[in-house]
This record gives sequence, structure tokens and C-alpha cells, in this order.
Amino acid sequence: MWQVIGQPKAIRLFERGLRTGTLAHAYLLVGPHHIGKTTLAVNLSQALNCTGADPPCGQCPSCRRIAQSKHADVRVINPASLDTEEKSRQKISTDAIEELQYSAFLPPYEGRYRVFIIDGAENMSAEASNRILKVLEEPSPSVVWLLLAVEESRLLPTVVSRCQRVELRPVPVTEIAGLLQEWYGVEAAKAGLLARLSGGCPGWAVSAAGDSRLMESRTQALDAFFNLLGAGLDDRLHYAAELARVIEKDRRIGTETLKIWLGLWRDVLLVKNKCPDDVVNIDYLETINRLASGAALSEIKSAIDRLNETLSQIARNVNAQLALEVLFLNMPTRKVVREGSVAAG
Ligand SMILES: [Zn+2]
Repeated sequence: MWQVIGQPKAIRLFERGLRTGTLAHAYLLVGPHHIGKTTLAVNLSQALNCTGADPPCGQCPSCRRIAQSKHADVRVINPASLDTEEKSRQKISTDAIEELQYSAFLPPYEGRYRVFIIDGAENMSAEASNRILKVLEEPSPSVVWLLLAVEESRLLPTVVSRCQRVELRPVPVTEIAGLLQEWYGVEAAKAGLLARLSGGCPGWAVSAAGDSRLMESRTQALDAFFNLLGAGLDDRLHYAAELARVIEKDRRIGTETLKIWLGLWRDVLLVKNKCPDDVVNIDYLETINRLASGAALSEIKSAIDRLNETLSQIARNVNAQLALEVLFLNMPTRKVVREGSVAAG
């Protein structure tokens, strides 16, 4: 049984390859974080080595050992261990790549196929990519490479061209909500909200259902947003400095706040365009309605453009504080009365 949620197209492709013996020797699985790339890669490794009647059965010793990361022929590689750009790591990483190049030509030890899963393949250094490329250019019949990437454009084109590309698609909201209710016992309203917030990535929804910190940080980001809308110049500049410090420390966490605001403005735009059914932040619907009725379409669109521009400036390493100051000074001013979140606590 395939454990990955959704992705019928990818599963059909792999099932056909397994049935007819026409699997490629390298696949590039592309899709956002938490969409199911790792689960699909592990499932395919199981299917390749399964001894049950209906691969991947999940029950045979091989499937179980792979699920427990104990199978000698299935390796998950994190490019941090291959990164040669930091001098202090150079020796270890070169050894790691050499070991990988060597083991890629060995026959399977306990199963039928050796499977190498490179999780976050776009984070490989140029040297690691070139060495992997050499291995991909001389495929071994009993080795399958699975490269997983969020940002495909950061991969070497020569590496991409050696792989069969499989794109993982966002999973429908109803499917994720159903999963949360049936498998994890999440009540309906919260399941619906998490499914919408997940952006089609079931892994995120499952994490958020089990870890309240994800929803708490969203509430904090939205609180900051509503406070800023009603704040004066001094408070806005103060918050710009504060958020810039967060971004300096951890860009992903810092920019997450901006992405949450972007999601809220998109919801305001949806309501303004009379598509309230597609709103993501449904627990803030009343507030979103009020913002939509109080703002001109052009004002909403320009808020979205400015946020996108700020995010791309930060990605290009522009001075974050300066970029945020410009963003906040151009934010519209509103006094916002808001409801609480249904998923709080
Ligand atoms: Zn099995």
C-alpha cells in the first residue's frame, strides 16, 4: 500500500514502471516542503525491494526494515553532509561523496535494488553535484537514484537532464481534511482550517495538528499584522527593526511572517472579487470581510505586490530592515477589530 497522500499520477507512473520493468535509474521528485516527496521516495524504495504479493506491501521484512531506516540498501542522504563549500567540512564531505560514488557501484547487499535518496538535492554544492552527475552518467542496473527538490531551478541542468522528472501536485483540501479527521481524530472545523492553511501539503497539516506551536506562530504573525495596520510611524519602524533581527538570525522563520500576511491579503482580494469560498484563513473571515469592504481593489493589489517585492528583496540579500521599513511605511492604516482563531490552543 502506498502511504503517500494524493499523488495518483506519480503512483501510476511508478506502478507501471514496476510492473513492466521500465523504471528509470534516476528520478527527480519536485514539490513544496511537506507535500510527500520523502514518503513517496521511501514507498518506492519499499516497492523495489518488497517480497510481498502487492508491492509496497508495508508488511514484509524488507518493507519494515526500510520504514525503520534499517535496510542496508536504502540510504537517505542530506546534502549538508556533501557540502564542500565550508572549508572545515571539506575533508568529511569529500569522504562522504567518495564513499557514495563507491557504494553506488556495489551490488545490493540484502535486497534487489540499492536506492539513494538525496533529500534537498538543490542544496548540493557544485562539487557534490558534479560527482553525483558522474554516477548518474554511468547507471548501474540495480541502483535507483531519487533526488528530492523544492527549488528545481537551483539544480545543475545537467543533473536534471539525467533524471526523469516527477512533479508532486497539491493535495485537495477535502482530502487533507478527511485524513486529519479519520487518521488523527482532529475535529471537523480545525481539520478544515489546517487543510486550507497547508496549501495542499498534507505533511504540514499533520505537523500542525500535532504541534500547536505552528498555529501559535501564525496567530502571533497575524496579531502583529493587525497591530501594524493600526499603528503609527514609530511603532512601525520599531517592528521593522525587530523583524529584521529575526530575519538575520533565521531567514526562513522571519519570512514566514511575511508569507502569512501575504496569505491574508490574498484572502482579502478573494473576498473583494466575490470568491469567499476559496479563503484560506477561514477563522478570520469576519476580519477579512471588513478589510475587503474598507479597501479599494487597487490598494489590496498594491499591498500584495509590495509584500512580494519585499520577499524577493530579502531573498536577494537586500538590507532587510530597509526593505521592511519601506514596506511598513506604505502599509494602509486601519483599525482592525478581529475575532479569535478557532484553532487556538
Ligand atoms: Zn513488502
